[in-house]
Amino acid sequence: MSDKHTSVLRPHTQVMTRGFDPSLSVGSARPAVFRSSTYVFSSPEAAERAFDLMAGRAQPEPDEQVDLVYSRFNHPNAEILEDQMVPLETGAHAALVFNSGMAAIMTALLTFVLPGESIVYTVPIYGGTQHLIQDFLSTLGTIGIPVPAGATQEIDDAIRSAKNLAVVLIETPANPTIIMTGIKQAADTAAGLLRKPLVMVDNTLMGPAFQHPLMLGADICLYSATKYLSGFSDMIGGAAIAVDPDLIRQMRSKRSLFGNILQPDECWMLDGRLPTVALRMNRSSKNAERIAERLARNPKVARVLYPTLFTDTEQIRIVNEQCDFPGGMLSLDLRGGKKAAFEFLRNLRIARNAVSLGSVETLVCHPKTTTHSGFTDAEFAQAGVTDGLVRISIGIEDWRDLLADFEQALDLV
Ligand SMILES: *Cc1c(COP(=O)(O)O)cnc(C)c1O
Repeated sequence: MSDKHTSVLRPHTQVMTRGFDPSLSVGSARPAVFRSSTYVFSSPEAAERAFDLMAGRAQPEPDEQVDLVYSRFNHPNAEILEDQMVPLETGAHAALVFNSGMAAIMTALLTFVLPGESIVYTVPIYGGTQHLIQDFLSTLGTIGIPVPAGATQEIDDAIRSAKNLAVVLIETPANPTIIMTGIKQAADTAAGLLRKPLVMVDNTLMGPAFQHPLMLGADICLYSATKYLSGFSDMIGGAAIAVDPDLIRQMRSKRSLFGNILQPDECWMLDGRLPTVALRMNRSSKNAERIAERLARNPKVARVLYPTLFTDTEQIRIVNEQCDFPGGMLSLDLRGGKKAAFEFLRNLRIARNAVSLGSVETLVCHPKTTTHSGFTDAEFAQAGVTDGLVRISIGIEDWRDLLADFEQALDLV
């Protein structure tokens, strides 16, 4: 289908029509999997041209058909997947897929942050991201400047005062405390600087269905596709999606070098999951909202962390500004600390005790002793990760069965 036609279609239609030409898959209604590591050139001239384009020595003509070369650089299943991801992220023009969320984050930072430059990032942030910035990128001479999630003024001040600021990296909502950080405010502040840093948002928890950072001024959305995008706890993947295709072009050249492209089979799997991302996320969010509001009244629970239960006016303002729905993630702070939290996990019959999130099945974990166990006491206190905190990723089961499961597990605590 021509781009002229597809560009007027709405996102949920485009995700099934863009980027895939059945005639290139012997008429198959769904894409074939192309596992080849290398591609046969149509002529030596075409091979020369493909290498010139890949190395940036030449620019492609509009509608030019370029020969594929080698699957570490590119392959048909990645191209199809990347084309189909673009309409899902409102405001995006280009996407790039990786073999994990960490690979996407690492490649983004190594492409755009040089030695001597700094990264302002919200904390708590995904543990791998924190480790990458604090313990690895720092050894290459880049400076990480952590700022507390949701602290609008502090984030603003950090963006204005950081020396050689290359990237502002926001993860919102924060995990496991569901604290929201205002994307628009940070992007506006960044845009006002003489040298504008890139604003990146790890949109794994709310995107692509409920939060649209590119429409709020962010440059790049980063994803762990392992979570909602794929949605079945059966693959690891990542993505970067941007407004400006030139940013994606720069990252693609690093991806070719690092060798962290998503493999053809995984691209094919993820591609088949994209049309149902919004359906799955909507169902999880509706389930979570009902469950959070009921559990907030349970005497065994000290507090439920969930957007519709926010009381802080700045948090309410941010969630209203940037989230279409409250999402499928909630945390419970149980009375009785670690012992109560462990008993609760042990007593669950439907929800499963596992890390990760964003799947069709409900997953529950104890952040303090698992996902966040590397924190110092000061970090636990600052992030609000308490002994009694359990994080829940609500799936698409019937919410009444999940609620009954949580209530019976709480009764036994
Ligand atoms: C899981 C996760 C990551 C890392 O993704 P992987 O696919 O495990 O590499 C990064 N950010 C967030 C918010 C995540 O939840």
